[in-house]
Amino acid sequence: MVEFEDFESYCMGTNIIQRIYSTNAKEIAILVENELKRLESLMSFYINSSDVGRLNLEAGQAQVLLSKETFEVIKKSKGYSELCNGAFDITIAPLVKLWGIFSKSQRVPSKNEIENILSLTNYKDIILNIEENSAKLSKVGQKIDLGAIAKGYAADRIIDIYKKNDVQAGFINIGGNVLTLGNKPDGSPWLIGIQNPFKIRGEFIGVVKISDETVVTSGDYVRYFEEDKIRYHHILDPRTGYPANSGIISATIIGKSSMESDALSTAIFILGLKKGMQLVNKINDAEAIFITFEKKIFVSDGAKEKFTFLDKSNEFEYIDETFL
Ligand code: ADP
Ligand code: MG
Repeated sequence: MVEFEDFESYCMGTNIIQRIYSTNAKEIAILVENELKRLESLMSFYINSSDVGRLNLEAGQAQVLLSKETFEVIKKSKGYSELCNGAFDITIAPLVKLWGIFSKSQRVPSKNEIENILSLTNYKDIILNIEENSAKLSKVGQKIDLGAIAKGYAADRIIDIYKKNDVQAGFINIGGNVLTLGNKPDGSPWLIGIQNPFKIRGEFIGVVKISDETVVTSGDYVRYFEEDKIRYHHILDPRTGYPANSGIISATIIGKSSMESDALSTAIFILGLKKGMQLVNKINDAEAIFITFEKKIFVSDGAKEKFTFLDKSNEFEYIDETFL
């Protein structure tokens, strides 16, 4: 049986883990690292010369020619926005900046500031030209940020590389976006742990069994700051301009496309249990696991056979309801 090798690296602002079952594992891992760097140079919000950087700089001014790949991700993003009534919206970027969530200047803005900046968030203001793969943001000051979808897109591309290079089995984990190839070589499915959101990394509340599938979690327990005992985190609700506050601390999607699952996990985190579950039930190949602040776990019907509840902390309650 072919042995596997694990590789760790850092790209797109996050840790990357690859497990590759192949006799050429090392070479393939390097190919993958280079591909991730290439995608980062196209889609990073922080690189002025990236597609995203150029589009943002020309907001309210000019149509900008994009790579086919970035164009595709932006087009899909608009589609996901429509699907969830705007809960997922890549034009959220000016608000993310206002809250300073990834910078040293994080703070709670005034209501007035939030209202002003919120008027710049609207996915309908992304004007696409399909003939020439170009885009324009309608208003000066508008910006997009692919942070809630690009890691998923990248994971899908990496699995393509594994397939092209005859990797027998493996997975890529891009900052918690896990996408698997095939089964484990012994024929059994992969087991992906679901993080206990109240505990340190690596403590799970259960595992998901998957093959050729992806598991993506959005949570508010990784990136946040506290002020007056209130937690302000990095997933913002475009309807209010404030961090999403739907009672959910962690939302996981199990799906086929890691890009779609990335977008949906962010969307259902914002929508909350009821609307999130309704959305998931409308979509083929999407199942969900919700964990609430009250430590209750809700699972979509199709995820029930994939998810095993294993709570060492004995603090959680698995609610076996049917959501249709
Ligand atoms: P993570 O990046 O932690 O895996 P997500 O996939 O949920 O989590 O993406 C969150 C990131 O997406 C934020 O850091 C921010 O840049 C951006 N973002 C925040 N709110 C939204 C939103 N409502 N729609 C789209 N992107 C968002
Ligand atoms: Mg996401």
